[in-house]
Amino acid sequence: MKALHWFSAMAACAALAGCSGGADYSGNPGGDVDTARISAAGKTPGDWLSYGGGYEEQRFSKLAQITPENVGKLGVAWSYDLKTSHGVEATPIVVDGVMYVTGAWSIVSALDAKTGKELWVYDPQVPKETLAKGCCDAVNRGVAVYEGKVFVGTYDGRLVALNSKDGSVIWEKVTVDQSKPYTITGAPRAFKDKVIIGNGGSELGVRGYVTAYNTNTGEEEWRFYFTPNPKKKPDGAASDSALAKFANASWGDSGAWTTQGGGATAWDSMIYDEVNDQVIVGTGNSSPWNGKIRDPEGNGDNLFVSSVLALDADSGEYKWHFQETPRDILDYTAVQTLILADLPVGAEGKSKRVIMHAPKNGFFYVLDAATGKFVSGKAYSAQTWATGLDANGRPIENPAMRQFDKKPFLAVPAPAGAHNWNPMGFSPKTGLAYIPANNMAQMVQERPGGIKETLKWNVGYDMAGGLPPAYPAGALPGIRASVKGELIAWDPVTHKPRWKREYPTPFNGGVLTTETNLLFQGDTMGTFRAFNAADGSELWSMNLKSGIQAAPITYEIDGEQYVAIATGWGTSWALNWGFAWDKAAAPDIGRVYVFKLGANGKIVDPMQYVIVEEPKTKSFGTPAQIAAGFQNYSENCMVCHGPLAISSGVTPDLRWSGVSADKDSWNQVVREGILAGNGMVSFKGQLTPEEAESIRAYVLDQGWMAVRNGDVRKASK
Ligand code: CA
Repeated sequence: MKALHWFSAMAACAALAGCSGGADYSGNPGGDVDTARISAAGKTPGDWLSYGGGYEEQRFSKLAQITPENVGKLGVAWSYDLKTSHGVEATPIVVDGVMYVTGAWSIVSALDAKTGKELWVYDPQVPKETLAKGCCDAVNRGVAVYEGKVFVGTYDGRLVALNSKDGSVIWEKVTVDQSKPYTITGAPRAFKDKVIIGNGGSELGVRGYVTAYNTNTGEEEWRFYFTPNPKKKPDGAASDSALAKFANASWGDSGAWTTQGGGATAWDSMIYDEVNDQVIVGTGNSSPWNGKIRDPEGNGDNLFVSSVLALDADSGEYKWHFQETPRDILDYTAVQTLILADLPVGAEGKSKRVIMHAPKNGFFYVLDAATGKFVSGKAYSAQTWATGLDANGRPIENPAMRQFDKKPFLAVPAPAGAHNWNPMGFSPKTGLAYIPANNMAQMVQERPGGIKETLKWNVGYDMAGGLPPAYPAGALPGIRASVKGELIAWDPVTHKPRWKREYPTPFNGGVLTTETNLLFQGDTMGTFRAFNAADGSELWSMNLKSGIQAAPITYEIDGEQYVAIATGWGTSWALNWGFAWDKAAAPDIGRVYVFKLGANGKIVDPMQYVIVEEPKTKSFGTPAQIAAGFQNYSENCMVCHGPLAISSGVTPDLRWSGVSADKDSWNQVVREGILAGNGMVSFKGQLTPEEAESIRAYVLDQGWMAVRNGDVRKASK
């Protein structure tokens, strides 16, 4: 069937100017972007052709007009309002003078890359109640452009092909079972007339996979599942033989994985390796996190969670795998930035095509791209879970990690990871990889009573255990002290940091390096900087007055070099940990800023905030009710509202909210779901009226405790 279809498509192509399944998009922006052009992206640095800048995804540009000597003259050429108070994680793509960038809710904007003029906007109309299906805000990391089409994965699990000229829909496919908590936040990648997309949802219970679709028709080309079929039967997918050969025996036959899918969702990095004609994919953590619940009778590695796999580009068939965190129990996803490069390896320093990877688990890996064999690796962050890697690259575990049910285990890195999705880069000029790294710790302990099947956020641990039961009681300063971010310039040959810079918060932006040894990075506080990539010295900075977590790009139009960054508060860091500092940049502006030499455009001021003195009503809870409220809050609310109910800048400050002040309003919102259109879905299935009321008691108590401690903060809009 596939061969026949291919044949008839070719026959149709022969009769047309462009080979696009019946229509011709070759005159569009990016009309001639195909595998060959993306392969040669380094030779046409005026464009930024794919998520990572080219197939190797190094985020390195040969543009050289902006230098360490003149970077001080960089100013705002233009900016564009993404009209969102949710997180922005996108890397823009620029081709033929047009910028394609995504904001929250998978909305795509096409802009004149020279002036910022809006050309078209495509809103996929993602239902707002799907917000509760994800862990980490309605974010999107960007699009793929191929043969005059723009591809976007939507938060509710669709893959949409748009006409790059006018944003009209060419085809659209639902890529997931929308009755399950799947989401798409990652950028698709395109090669050889195929576009691939994965999905997320391992915290809520899904089975991960990646699918390739035909760029012209949207027809499915192949699919690869990363955990066994719950009955260990064939799926009729490209993964069947690899699951039978490697994965099935690494799981027991019962446990929560058989109903929750086991996880291993490929929600971020997936790259095309043209030299080996394969797709390399990083997979996510296991689902649920707690291995004793997930797979109680098994003792295997739970393949292919927390792994890197290579799949044949044409068939999706297995080529190799390398599991970084066997039988993961700490949310150690391996989806982080995959980078291809030629590095000197071994005693003779022979050049080899390798993959560089700095996943959540805190080890930096160099793998042979052709075979997946471990070349070298070392810890790039502090660790309590492992003491090192053996000769094959397998972690040497601290046995205490798996005895969390007997004694709570302080996990370092925290489940948020020593490095999360914020894109890493590699400069062939300096030979260094640049990691936006996190220093965080979290206590892991068994949930009393085991897993609760009705929970939305369903990881199998006591989520209250690792977090402060009350504010402040010394807890908040403690959290602040233990949490920080770093930019690590890592030598992947010697496995040592060449230099580091520290930030007061984790989850800082991705990186860009250039031919002139500039390194650009923004931070969560809103400052965008240029460093000397060789030694880390700061050369230029500007406060953009909004958090920065995405990665910058650079491009050239009419002989002028531009640098662009998408700003915006939100994302998992803000939702879950936004309370941890109150000097954070204002959240309300998701915006693309574009810079060039000698420009002097303005930075847009953030929204103003209302200062309030006290919560709107009295505290009413008994100590037992408040304690129960904290437990219920931590399991149902904390992931989006933070542990202390303080505004993250995205979600409202519950302590001062009028809804919290009134029992009936609270019930309407929490149990009846009247704000589902904002993403606050009904928790009727999760919370009894008494449990909901206990949470209200906890929330108000937090507010009055802040008043007593003289720490009255700004309330959100
Ligand atoms: Ca996860």
